[in-house]
Amino acid sequence: MSINIAIDGPSAAGKSSVSDILAQKLGYVHLDTGAMYRAVAYLTKVNNVKTDDEDKIVSLIMNNSLSFNQDGRIVLNGEDISEKIRSNEMSMAASDVSKNPKVREALVALQREIARSKGYILDGRDIGTVVLKDAEVKIFLTADPADRALRRVIQNKANNIPADYEQILAEIKERDYQDTHRSVSPLCKAADAIEIDSSKLDKEEVVEKILAIVKTKI
Ligand code: C5P
Repeated sequence: MSINIAIDGPSAAGKSSVSDILAQKLGYVHLDTGAMYRAVAYLTKVNNVKTDDEDKIVSLIMNNSLSFNQDGRIVLNGEDISEKIRSNEMSMAASDVSKNPKVREALVALQREIARSKGYILDGRDIGTVVLKDAEVKIFLTADPADRALRRVIQNKANNIPADYEQILAEIKERDYQDTHRSVSPLCKAADAIEIDSSKLDKEEVVEKILAIVKTKI
């Protein structure tokens, strides 16, 4: 029997890489919901739309084709934009567009539709609290901001993205604040989520902990 797994937490806590490994081990599909908000942020940039112009952003979502290909890469109107959405600029812009209730409504509907058939791992900020309230396994993955900034520096260097530690730490703290204080679906731990602090754990150790929880449900 397939289940759905919700993984929420602040930026750079390791949600995406842990979800990728879990998906491989379980034969599940990983849906990176943050990539969807990033793609919408990218759409606002190329169309010169302000990140708080809610109605225009919703019509951009409706009038452009946004999908994931078989390798989990995000494709906008036929173009693979997976790299373009990873810049520090797109991280902040994604956090800005995600404050709009109608934008969230549109993306949440898409995410629910995708995960309907079960066998999905969704990572994001509101999966356990809003998108999949009935997910069989809910994880809240955290780590110290300093550890998260260091991980992002390593990741950015590998992807040729600017990687100044102090700047990244400041951006992570700003995004944490914005994501936990917005009025719609702020980042918070679902009452029935299990918290894992990954500060002192590597990816494989986090995966093992989650797998042990998953095994009790399938
Ligand atoms: O996870 P990632 O860092 O790629 O997400 C980018 C931004 O998108 C987050 O800072 C957050 O504001 C927003 N987001 C969200 N809800 C989700 C996933 C991401 O609001 N489910």
